[in-house]
Amino acid sequence: MAQSYEAVIGLEIHVQLATKSKMFSGDSNADSLEPNVHVNPVSMGHPGTLPVVNQAAVEMGIMAGIALGCQISELTKFDRKQYFYPDLPKGYQITQHDLPLCRNGKLTIYEDDVTPIEIGLERIHLEEDAAKNVHTETATLVDFNRAGAPLIEIVTKPELRSAKQARLFLQELQMLIRYLGISDADMEKGHMRMDVNVSIRPVGDEALYPRTEIKNMNSFKAVERAADYEIKEQTKLWEQHKAPEQFRTCGWDDAAGVTLEQRVKEAAADYRYFPEPDIPPLRITQQDLDRIALRIPELPIQRRDRFREEYFLSYYDAKVLTADPRVADYFEAVVSELRAWLNSLDSMEGSDEEVWEREGTKLCRQACNWITSELFGQLAKAKLDFKELKITAENLAEFISLVHQNKVNSSAAQTILRHMFEHGSDPSQVMAELDLEQVHDAGQLEQACADAIATNPKIVEQYQAGHERVLMYLIGQVMKAMKGKANPEMVTALLRKKLNP
Ligand code: ADP
Ligand code: MG
Repeated sequence: MAQSYEAVIGLEIHVQLATKSKMFSGDSNADSLEPNVHVNPVSMGHPGTLPVVNQAAVEMGIMAGIALGCQISELTKFDRKQYFYPDLPKGYQITQHDLPLCRNGKLTIYEDDVTPIEIGLERIHLEEDAAKNVHTETATLVDFNRAGAPLIEIVTKPELRSAKQARLFLQELQMLIRYLGISDADMEKGHMRMDVNVSIRPVGDEALYPRTEIKNMNSFKAVERAADYEIKEQTKLWEQHKAPEQFRTCGWDDAAGVTLEQRVKEAAADYRYFPEPDIPPLRITQQDLDRIALRIPELPIQRRDRFREEYFLSYYDAKVLTADPRVADYFEAVVSELRAWLNSLDSMEGSDEEVWEREGTKLCRQACNWITSELFGQLAKAKLDFKELKITAENLAEFISLVHQNKVNSSAAQTILRHMFEHGSDPSQVMAELDLEQVHDAGQLEQACADAIATNPKIVEQYQAGHERVLMYLIGQVMKAMKGKANPEMVTALLRKKLNP
């Protein structure tokens, strides 16, 4: 039987922390379009400058560690990693080598939306970023704004088994980082970038074989494509009994869809680590941890579970709603308004809890649908960010209550929602102003149906000859006569009754 192979993937992720100042100085950590404006002597690596540890950055690193279930080191220290490159004027990067801030830990992903897969973490450490080389046609320029920016590097164990798992892991991690508020983790701005390590091995073999490291990826899609590419290439090599014998460092050429080997010299760098003599080791106490833990909000995975329970949602819906904490907050505000509205109705039988048990499922699902299909769709079409949404939670809840009570039919609902989206208007007001309230009046509807039948004898003939589908045409005629305000179910029933006496 042919041997089968499995992929072994580990990720190294750099996240730029959203502190005010840099890792080891008071220089601003803000983004700037203008190059070289945040360039104090420490960032520039001038001789004689001394690093001072940014407490906010350490605390954010600890928050990530706690949220990811890591052990936080009681004693942690910084080390110098020597290498020579134009983006690093002092000739070394301050990072953490053998006593990282956090060890172990895990993140859970759901490949099929049901089964949890735990991915172990090796470590999380703090370090400073290098400057940025900008290559032009005639020269390489250096922008030092980023030099010394605080980073955490999160290193996974080689426990991912497919390119898709790698992507899911990164998406889950980005969400967690955003929930923690320690970075916007925006890949386009370079606030989250990753190296992807890939190797292959025969299924059943627990050994690790030489890996390819694909450096500096900055999109989920690129990571997935690059990992898939390497898996395919390496599998071919294994099948030809030419398994890779050496560690390789590569870049990813997105246009060509291939990995390209980088200079071997770079990969074989000897960093000559030694403890940073200008920074004393840090001691982290239980009190520090207790204090920092208080700043950790409900995390995505917890919020997703709660949404499934509390709002009767599927895993998928809960996942979509909680992906962005602002959307999740908005949904919760809408539901809470709907619940208050239900409780205020005199016509409902039973206690508030019983009413919620009965009506809640439907209302929550409606709220979810209107937000994730309609509002997300409109936002995408208008190229707007969620924070630019003009519809308040209160107005959306009122809108849903109108739909729920059948006060408007679905085409009128769309019209009202479009108004709300564009102008932030109140739904009841739009309904009144545009005269969209659904007509349930049997007499009025009956008349309109009779008219449609009288003016379309040919269609009626076809219907009675067995062409059921032409009923749609008659319904359309009635809706048109009623300016779209008729209740479509009532119209259908009335027409059927009149045509099949
Ligand atoms: P380095 O800095 O040399 O790249 P790290 O320990 O920081 O080393 O990171 C190594 C990364 O590569 C980790 O994410 C680890 O899980 C992954 N890794 C290690 N061995 C393998 C392997 N054989 N195949 C795939 N990934 C691997
Ligand atoms: Mg590496």
